[in-house]
Amino acid sequence: MEALLEGLNEAQRAPVLQKDGAMMVIAGAGSGKTRVLTMRIAYLMQQGVDAFNILSLTFTNKAAREMKTRIGTIVGNSEAKNLWMGTFHSVFAKILRIEGHHLGFPPNFTIYDSQDSQRLISAIIKEMGLDKDIYKYKQVHSRISSFKNSLITVKAYFQNPELMEADAMAKKPRIGNIYKEYVDRCFKAGAMDFDDLLLRTNELLARFPEVLAKYQKRFQYILVDEYQDTNHSQYLIVKALADRYQNICVVGDDSQSIYAFRGANINNILNYQRDYDDVKVYRLEQNYRSSKNIVEAANSVIEHNKTKLDKVVWTANDDGPKIIVHRSLTDGEEGRYVASNIFETKMNNQLQHSDFAILYRTNAQSRAMEDALRKREIPYRIYGGLSFYQRKEIKDVLAYLRILTNPNDEEALKRVINYPARGIGATTLDRLVIAAKQYDRSIFEVMENIEHLDIKINSSTKNKLYNFVNMIHSFKILSENADAFTVAETVARKTGLLQELKKDGTPEGIARIENIEELLNGMRDFVEGQKEIADATGSLSEFLEDVALATDMDKDIDDVDRVSLMTIHLAKGLEFPYVYIVGLEEDLFPSGMSMNTRSELEEERRLFYVALTRAEKQAYLTYTESRYRWGKLIDAEPSRFIEEIDQQYLDIQTPMDNYRYKPMIDTDIFGEPDKSKLRLKKPVSGSAPTVGKPTEDQLRKLRKLRPQTASEIPTDDLNGNLSKGMHVEHSRFGHGEVLGIEGIGQDQKAEINFQTGGIKKLLLRFAKLKIL
Ligand code: ATP
Ligand code: MG
Repeated sequence: MEALLEGLNEAQRAPVLQKDGAMMVIAGAGSGKTRVLTMRIAYLMQQGVDAFNILSLTFTNKAAREMKTRIGTIVGNSEAKNLWMGTFHSVFAKILRIEGHHLGFPPNFTIYDSQDSQRLISAIIKEMGLDKDIYKYKQVHSRISSFKNSLITVKAYFQNPELMEADAMAKKPRIGNIYKEYVDRCFKAGAMDFDDLLLRTNELLARFPEVLAKYQKRFQYILVDEYQDTNHSQYLIVKALADRYQNICVVGDDSQSIYAFRGANINNILNYQRDYDDVKVYRLEQNYRSSKNIVEAANSVIEHNKTKLDKVVWTANDDGPKIIVHRSLTDGEEGRYVASNIFETKMNNQLQHSDFAILYRTNAQSRAMEDALRKREIPYRIYGGLSFYQRKEIKDVLAYLRILTNPNDEEALKRVINYPARGIGATTLDRLVIAAKQYDRSIFEVMENIEHLDIKINSSTKNKLYNFVNMIHSFKILSENADAFTVAETVARKTGLLQELKKDGTPEGIARIENIEELLNGMRDFVEGQKEIADATGSLSEFLEDVALATDMDKDIDDVDRVSLMTIHLAKGLEFPYVYIVGLEEDLFPSGMSMNTRSELEEERRLFYVALTRAEKQAYLTYTESRYRWGKLIDAEPSRFIEEIDQQYLDIQTPMDNYRYKPMIDTDIFGEPDKSKLRLKKPVSGSAPTVGKPTEDQLRKLRKLRPQTASEIPTDDLNGNLSKGMHVEHSRFGHGEVLGIEGIGQDQKAEINFQTGGIKKLLLRFAKLKIL
């Protein structure tokens, strides 16, 4: 107990020690909100609250796991395991498995990811004979998704003339029909999409009072992290569950609300005090994460937002270095700057790759960063984008596994019915789909009964269908007794999937086989891990549940030390010592699509606030003069967010620092290496001679003739004749004695015993050593 409170300041202790009642912690970034939630749970358990009675909702499953581990060290691991903790989606998927039968869903329902949903929607659009250029499946999907998140069911849609009129005006009068067909098909396939996990939970709690009462009694204490980003559907679930005991603690920061575009509603925070009796509001003001420069800079930007709650954020941390602002010529150059900077900083300070993060506004920006990191052989991991489980070969294996637990899963079946090729063509599939509709059965059920049904399919094809059904049946029998790993391995071999890829023989084919191996390794680990948990057996359905809700943020594919790359949206709640925010240009960040209204722009600014406050020690802001977008080289202008930062916290670097071939570029435009002359805004045309502006041709040449970056140029020759026994001085580690030298040329390293820092190996090319 003492130990538990020791790691908290006064303000943080108060919400931890208030055992009962409704409370809200509103505080800026890095002030310990997540830490308060963690400690509050540990404290509740120490006070005798049963772990089974606590529900904690987090932004990622990874965050939940980290919290659990932390709590485990305080109250014991075996107790901590019983906590209900995770994202809204994962917790309520678990409840729907138990209770979904009330709504007509099987316990082994499939969870469709957005790719599955979009494929199905696209198939429906085609079946309905609609123009796919008007009914774009992605747009239709996001419209349906927004209905679901606002709890607009199909019935509610058709009772709402305004909605129907809006779709008709947008020349898409059949949206409602697509929505209906989509919902029916998911239901028939025993599948829920991501939005259903929330929508159906709401339906369950609203329609079945006894189910609601059961979970209200169960979850006597409810905690929600990142409350500012809950959408209406999530809000209602929490409200319903907390209604009985009203022991609810939410933490959040209105300045970090960044999901309005997905229906997150900042009013959830603002109205909280109305929703519960006697709400205590706590504020935390001290930031423990970041240097003073970063905290102050972030404060100065968010000041520009009109809509915000008054909040103070300060820190007792050191000033730290100023935020570095760096301009490049092109996005390729920007990538090279970031990569070489990471390389140097890591070398000079003896850091891990995982100390660095590169954050961007849009996924597409990762490519230039990846190219540069690869050239430098810096290992990295991209979060978001195409996750491991989204890769084709992995989805193929998973599709077979999904059919075993739920043969009605239409999307899984369509994916593999003819892969590897077994002579079941598109026409046959179309006929099966029509028959399924006609008999009101799933496609697989039609296939199982093909002998007895009146379908225009010839006997040789029928035979092939029969073989496929038989194969699935045999796997299913295996899966009833064997663990997930054994089943998957058998499936990969017996379906011919592995052979197909081996035949392929290309490097991509080999990479695919390796990925399948990686999947199998992961499954083996999973099966082992499940053995520790009560009631778990390591079965296939347990595994599929885990995978369906895993984002690659949650699962580290391997434990290699890597630089993290992700969009800012994904970075919420995380922290890294060194953070690069790249592509700080008008139209990109703030996004060109979010500058129409003040509220959109304010959301972009909050996003920037989130990005900046991820950094602990040093933040870098980079932008380029020109960038390839939509296949064209366009001029770029520095983001207004750079200007909005109080300039005293910035170290604005001139681009010339990075070029060796200065004469290639006219200095009039690119500035003398004199910081005071750097213009953040591009010169108004006419105010500077235009001769200096590089033409597209020059830019192309420049990209080929990659200018040597600072880190490639030997810093000095001071370290040249270093030998064992010499005494040296390092700017950071101080005085040390050389223990040995290894390697030659560029790779030469010295092992040095520093008086304060201990023994370190430094790459001589970078180590700024003074021989004493
Ligand atoms: P965000 O708004 O970004 O989610 P947060 O408010 O949840 O931030 P935490 O992640 O809980 O903040 O804390 C930020 C950092 O400060 C963490 O590394 C945490 O361990 C540390 N920290 C929080 N409180 C204290 C404290 N009292 N003493 C020392 N370190 C602390
Ligand atoms: Mg947090």
